Amino acid sequence: MNEKNRKKLLEIMKQPGNDVCADCNAPLEDSDWGAYNLGVFLCVHCATVHRMLGVQISRTKSIPLDQWTDEQVAFMEAHGNLKAKEKYEQYVPKFYRRPTEKDCQVLREQWIRAKYERHEFMDLDKQTYRSGKKTGYLWKKGRDDNRFQHRLFVLSEDDNTLKYYNKENAKEPKATILLSELNAVFTPEKIGNPNGLQLSYIKENMTRNIYLYTNDGKDIVDWYMAIRHAKFNRLKVAYPGASDEDLALQLTRDFLKEGWLAKTGPKGNEAYRRRWFSLDGRLLSYYSDPLDAFPKGEVVLGTRSDGFTVREGVPPGRLDQLYSFTQVTPTRQYYLSADLQEERRQWMEVLMKVIDTPQSRQDKMLMSLVNKEK
Ligand SMILES: [Zn+2]
Repeated sequence: MNEKNRKKLLEIMKQPGNDVCADCNAPLEDSDWGAYNLGVFLCVHCATVHRMLGVQISRTKSIPLDQWTDEQVAFMEAHGNLKAKEKYEQYVPKFYRRPTEKDCQVLREQWIRAKYERHEFMDLDKQTYRSGKKTGYLWKKGRDDNRFQHRLFVLSEDDNTLKYYNKENAKEPKATILLSELNAVFTPEKIGNPNGLQLSYIKENMTRNIYLYTNDGKDIVDWYMAIRHAKFNRLKVAYPGASDEDLALQLTRDFLKEGWLAKTGPKGNEAYRRRWFSLDGRLLSYYSDPLDAFPKGEVVLGTRSDGFTVREGVPPGRLDQLYSFTQVTPTRQYYLSADLQEERRQWMEVLMKVIDTPQSRQDKMLMSLVNKEK
């Protein structure tokens, strides 16, 4: 081990920009990695993706474990993460989702491939998701069965719609979804595919979910970015005074939390049943199966002053089970139970955070759309 060069690298990592991963912004430690032909410092997860690209694109070395030559160290010193950003992230669109260390693998991998392999952000012509239109086949889960079928999807920014077709030559789409009402979120574990994408919208007072994947990681991320781009452009017209940064935050929402809980029926003394819970902003939905098209029920959470609160345990006389807690709404109390104490703590924390957040104009619109009592 060349101790002099290793010390030099650790010095260089203290310079601005080099203390976080060039690709996902994770804080770096002295056990992390560098790509010596690109001049960037990387976390272990992004370095793994870099190695998948091949040595013609990226040549990685471990800071503490590999031998670094004087030339390689000099290259890292002369370049570094900030210079690499100037070059490889010249034209990252405002609507583009830059992954963080918490994001799913397909977003991280495609971001890294887009930057260094496809040079998407050095050349606007390579950003195909900017055209306002996208047409292609996606694997879509059947509404009432578990089979995934190849379905044609058509996105049109001009019409504000995403449509899909059940038959090859169908004249009428099976569904027409307004982009302004559409959310898209990567749920690879739930769908059981690394490229799993969930679409949701409100249909007849209830959430409708569509579960999709593609075989190609680039294609599903292109769909996601095309949806974000179309929504971004429409929001820019609707809210001419808003900043691009504010609009970019409204394009898609990840779930605040998902997982299994048990709940009683509306009377509160029936047996507990396992349900899959999903918290999307203020909308709390529960399902028999995580991949159901429609929830069994859902409630829009208002604020504390509207009569919403969360309490540990259940009231005396109610059936209790494991780590129970009560979600109080003005019209009903939901008796819920987690298998683990830590799960209960997390659910109560996130639900209370929602209740303590003032309602936005969008929240109030959602409240009027969703049927609260099921
Ligand atoms: Zn990283």
